[in-house]
Amino acid sequence: MKLALIGYPLSHSLSAVIHKQAFKDANIEDKNSTYELLPTEPQDLVSRIKFLKSNNYSGFNVTIPLKVPISLFLDGVDNDADLACCANTVKILPDKTLIGYNTDIYGFKNAIEIEHQNSLNGSNVVVLGAGGAARAVLIALCQLKVKNIDIFVRNLINANEMVTLFRKRFPDVNFNLFQIQSLNNLEKYEMLVNTTPIGMRGRYMDLSLVDIDLSLKTLPKSSIVYDVIYNPIKTKLILDAQKLGLKTINGLDMLVFQAQKAFEIWTDKSCDPVKMKLAALEYLM
Ligand code: NAP
Repeated sequence: MKLALIGYPLSHSLSAVIHKQAFKDANIEDKNSTYELLPTEPQDLVSRIKFLKSNNYSGFNVTIPLKVPISLFLDGVDNDADLACCANTVKILPDKTLIGYNTDIYGFKNAIEIEHQNSLNGSNVVVLGAGGAARAVLIALCQLKVKNIDIFVRNLINANEMVTLFRKRFPDVNFNLFQIQSLNNLEKYEMLVNTTPIGMRGRYMDLSLVDIDLSLKTLPKSSIVYDVIYNPIKTKLILDAQKLGLKTINGLDMLVFQAQKAFEIWTDKSCDPVKMKLAALEYLM
């Protein structure tokens, strides 16, 4: 079983650690079972797919910035990847056809405690970013029956196509698009979700798109701040929110749940998300 992660950069990734634990749980521990990190920039996507097909990989995960572009190369998709128009998990069938799945939707939702999932029914949510992770987040929020989603982006033209699609697919939800610079008063929101890489380990570490004094402070005290970034576990946004006494969710549980589902798709075997999370935490310490 040869598995891999493609995207760029990958130095922050915990996927190899998590899937190594999954192999153990599923008793697939022979030396031919591997999960490799294969850094792949957009201009190398075509040659990377040829490489994966011709070297007998069984499947791969897709991360920043390839979740949307990978759609162009898929021969089939599951319902969630179809809804999101992007995939984070690809299975390579014996005849070399590529089937795409979106397990980020499952991961995002499952990382929210049931009590908080219920409280999102009819709520107002603010989402930062409009890339691959944002699409999964938006679908999960629609499935949780939020009423209104305000999306703040740096490139309105890029995001407009996505919003037009979601307005058609989820007519009961109100989607609004704004320039990130206009992010200001947040008092009407029950949840804020960061889906951009701002705050992640590397060149964006220690940065946040939400000014603590001008914006974050205005969130109601009962609101949840969810950052899908998992490395570092506590981004500047999460640390600022905790300083203000807000509830927070980091990206680690989402990562683990999406990986659990991806592993099951590739292997038809189950694995233990608790052990996978512990492996990630141990690695980060
Ligand atoms: P992506 O498809 O490249 O999308 C990134 C989004 O962030 C785009 O909308 C991009 O805007 C926006 N962005 C980038 N830099 C920005 C800036 N300086 N200011 C404002 N917006 C900016 O990447 P992705 O796959 O969605 O991943 C995004 C992050 O989520 C990564 O850190 C990734 O590790 C994390 N993630 C975590 C999980 C998990 O399981 N926890 C799952 C998925 C993703 P443009 O369109 O203008 O470029």
